[in-house]
Amino acid sequence: MRIVLLGAPGAGKGTVAKSLTEFDGSVQISTGDILRNAVKAGSELGKKAKGYMERGELVPDDLIMDIMEVRMKEPDCQKGFLLDGFPRTIPQAEALKKLLEKIGIKLDAAINLDVPTDVILDRLTTRRTCSNPDCQEIYNIKSKPPKPDGTCFKCGSPAVQRADETEEAIKQRLATYNEKTAPLIDFYKKEGLLKTISSLSSQEIVEEVKAAVKK
Ligand code: AMP
Repeated sequence: MRIVLLGAPGAGKGTVAKSLTEFDGSVQISTGDILRNAVKAGSELGKKAKGYMERGELVPDDLIMDIMEVRMKEPDCQKGFLLDGFPRTIPQAEALKKLLEKIGIKLDAAINLDVPTDVILDRLTTRRTCSNPDCQEIYNIKSKPPKPDGTCFKCGSPAVQRADETEEAIKQRLATYNEKTAPLIDFYKKEGLLKTISSLSSQEIVEEVKAAVKK
């Protein structure tokens, strides 16, 4: 499947994308994960992105498009892709549209995960992420805790709170979402690709996405 996952931070895009990769072998492409890995590796990209990310602001569109133009042309994308956290602005959505036209690929759908703000806030403050860049399993101290010693069940690395999951950064990320990313809902409605899902259970969301893509 070839889909864009839309939704505020904490709406469940990452969790849903991971489950969907197990379904049909489509690859999850998370610009957030790519950027966090670049920051950890101390690469040029990481150095440029770090400040924006810590403040809960968006990284400039040209940096994101440089990454995505390369990533979307890699052979593993031919099976399908789940875009998680990209596009995040109208210029990114326009650039993605052009890029897909150039490589002759059509999106199946843009899935909007519509989750109430109180649920988002609770999820983000209780979220923990495996610190191993090759794992990045997502936990929640209430609903899916890591091991009692705080490490990841999958790889044993510490599951930690992300630097951008402090209350201050979360508020900024939600404001950024409302200003810059929410307009994409209308963009994809006009493209005839939008499907909004209001369910809060990732299992139910996965089933609804599969049904939407089959149609
Ligand atoms: P995420 O894990 O998707 O919430 O992304 C974490 C942070 O990475 C965001 O708060 C932004 O600073 C940055 N980021 C991720 N994806 C994008 C994007 N498509 N455009 C701009 N910034 C991004």
